[in-house]
Amino acid sequence: MNTPHLFHYAQGRFQWELTVTDEYLVIMPTQRRWNLIEKLAPYYPEVFFSKPLEHTGLFRHFAELSGDPQSILSFAEKHGVLLPSREVTAARGPKTEENTSGSWPAEPLERWRTEISKMRRAVEVWDLLRSDDIDNLAERFTIQEKGGVLTVAHVENPEEVVYFTRGEWVGIEGAAWRYLEHVINKRLEAYTHAVLEFDAGKGRMALRVTAKCLLGALWLQFAQGVEGFKEYRQCGECGTWYELTPDKNRTNKLYCSNACKQKAYRRRRAATSQQAEE
Ligand SMILES: [Zn+2]
Repeated sequence: MNTPHLFHYAQGRFQWELTVTDEYLVIMPTQRRWNLIEKLAPYYPEVFFSKPLEHTGLFRHFAELSGDPQSILSFAEKHGVLLPSREVTAARGPKTEENTSGSWPAEPLERWRTEISKMRRAVEVWDLLRSDDIDNLAERFTIQEKGGVLTVAHVENPEEVVYFTRGEWVGIEGAAWRYLEHVINKRLEAYTHAVLEFDAGKGRMALRVTAKCLLGALWLQFAQGVEGFKEYRQCGECGTWYELTPDKNRTNKLYCSNACKQKAYRRRRAATSQQAEE
């Protein structure tokens, strides 16, 4: 079966390529370690740099991707490739002047789809937990008991099993929180790490959790949302998900940015004057 992979050629330009065996997203070598090279951005203006966490609700946007190649392509064009360099596979793409071998780093479409589904399930469970939707939560999980040990699995992903001891059992809600903890931790373990960074401004070292790749950044953002009971809203103009920060912006804020607020205002004004003319 031919699996499309997403190719990244340069400067945020990606392309789905159907090769002899597969389709891939090709990645330029400089783009693979975005978290490190971001600091070097001023020195390499020709390289594509992405600052995914400036989009405060990006993990929700990722969770909502339909999984069709076009939607993933436009996500990658804005925010970069998903995986760390060690998980990127080599795929055969076009031969160019810079790459005469035609072998490019690439990411399989199927991997993107798997990761989108994983995020979508986890975000949905979190939303159901926060809205106390016990009935819907109960439908999402299968719970079994084997020899005094309870296991919980999501119905859409039965291979991923979370274990409980009897004492830990606190109903479907407890199981769902435990499942969420397990799924998020698995991704944090694999795609984030703690680093010491010299803060030149303060003249001291700072300990930070940072992502190894875009996938790690998305799960880190999600984990921060869960920890901080963060609320999110979708922009009424452009559909972007953003975090509601009560201290910074009013909780009744309806748009992601001033630009979108202006756009919506102009649209409303245009509609009103049209009505007036009629
Ligand atoms: Zn907007």
